[in-house]
Amino acid sequence: MSQAFYIEQTPPAKRTDCHQSDPAAIIKQLYDSETFRLLAQVVVGRLSDHLEQVQSRNGKVMTARPPRLNLLDARAWLDAATAATPSDARTLADRAGTMIDDLLANSQRLHHPGYIGHQLAPPLPLAAVFELAAALVNQGMAIYELGPWTTAVEKAMVERLGEQLGFVPGSFSGLVTSGGTLANLTALIAARNKLLGDAWSQGLTGLETKPVVITHMESHYSIARAAGIIGLGAEQCLYVASDAAGRTDPQALADLLDDLKRRAVPVIAVVASAGATRTGSFDPLPAIADLCEHHGIWLHVDAAHGGAVSFSKAHRHLIEGIERADSVIWDAHKMLFVPTLSTYLFYKNPRNKYLAFSQDAPFLFVEDSDDAHEFDCGLATAECTKRAAALSLWAVMSLYGGSVYETLIDRICEITALFVAKLAAIEQVEMPVEPQFNIVLFRYVPERPDIDVDAYNKALRAFIVEDGSLYLTTTTYRGALYLRFVVMNPLSNETEVEALIEALTTFAARHDGDGDAAFAAERTGQSHLKV
Ligand SMILES: *Cc1c(COP(=O)(O)O)cnc(C)c1O
Repeated sequence: MSQAFYIEQTPPAKRTDCHQSDPAAIIKQLYDSETFRLLAQVVVGRLSDHLEQVQSRNGKVMTARPPRLNLLDARAWLDAATAATPSDARTLADRAGTMIDDLLANSQRLHHPGYIGHQLAPPLPLAAVFELAAALVNQGMAIYELGPWTTAVEKAMVERLGEQLGFVPGSFSGLVTSGGTLANLTALIAARNKLLGDAWSQGLTGLETKPVVITHMESHYSIARAAGIIGLGAEQCLYVASDAAGRTDPQALADLLDDLKRRAVPVIAVVASAGATRTGSFDPLPAIADLCEHHGIWLHVDAAHGGAVSFSKAHRHLIEGIERADSVIWDAHKMLFVPTLSTYLFYKNPRNKYLAFSQDAPFLFVEDSDDAHEFDCGLATAECTKRAAALSLWAVMSLYGGSVYETLIDRICEITALFVAKLAAIEQVEMPVEPQFNIVLFRYVPERPDIDVDAYNKALRAFIVEDGSLYLTTTTYRGALYLRFVVMNPLSNETEVEALIEALTTFAARHDGDGDAAFAAERTGQSHLKV
């Protein structure tokens, strides 16, 4: 928002917060342990009440007000700050509590069982508590000394999750980074450096033919973005045709690889999807790995969303062959239910961990004896200072064991199957790809031939979200608009399934007649709801 906006709309209050009377008292209060205890009690109390309310389906899932209203209120808190910072901890904590109320009232309610929107997990409250602890000790992570315990925790988690995927214990490496986007980028930098030797120091010079990255038709945009960032050019991403289920077609990939070989086009990597973002499709990894091995090409598997099926005996077949990949990414903040951002990147060949950033920062990384560098996270990540992003997952898995994720993933799949069965029973419902995990695309195709099906489904989505018991999104797939939902909450159940079916029926009944105002408004683009 432009500065001009506030000046016109809300003249800032006279600022008085810079001449606070007693600096020593302020500093004492800022770091006072008893004040912290009280603040935390008030805030955690609010959060617990929120969980109780939201999980019992009180109120709407989606509470977003127009952005400018939120901006005005957020700004008002700043402008209300005065020198009269409460000197007693109680008043301070009360005010903090009210600020938390604003946060809770105006945030997406991921813990509401009706939240079937984006691929964002309702974090396990236990994990949130460990995030608070991590924030307070604030370990820097770039080198071992900046986070001795949290570095060990991170390495233990890399070992544990890599073994879960099927890599041979002791023979692979990995790291934790801030998000799948950065992890995909890091892996592709490593693959580029592997293929193009001195690209790190020299850049992409002297190449007769521009290299390419081959990727899944629906790969996450971070792949094309990485191709741009690493100097290939985003248009050097080649998308392989997929089959009716949205999986990369191995024959199409084989033909493409043969063709590129004939034309001597260097291939940096083949990127396969283990849970494609839009459709949730899982690629046939064994067939893709065979082709990559045959051609000597780096295989990168984007399992940001789907890595967690490795915990489930019933569903791990979806990622069969993943341990043959040269690199794999896995977002813990998606299907491992921890707060953002926490992503794992694995390399089958442990030495490749140092391939991406073969750069020295001598002031940090002192070359000493044995394998000390193994514990300096910053050697393998784009980041220097980094969050202790493995702590909360380590806590969950240390307290409950890995089997807790089998329980959660199996439950997620069970609810998804229930949704899918009920939807499939409705004649007018069309699902363009058979859901393999927890991402579902569908649309309602009314019998009336004069109806614009895309507009109908857009209006249907607005109707569902405004009603408030569910929140889902839309997407386009192969040129048509679909409703898309992702079952992320293990507490979703038949209530949500029935609410969706009921919404479809109610909406259809309304539009069986001669259309109504809401639909007409949507068709002319007047709804305020962003799709
Ligand atoms: C979410 C996602 C990403 C991006 O991860 P972020 O953590 O959001 O940066 C990449 N690939 C896939 C398949 C994803 O689902």
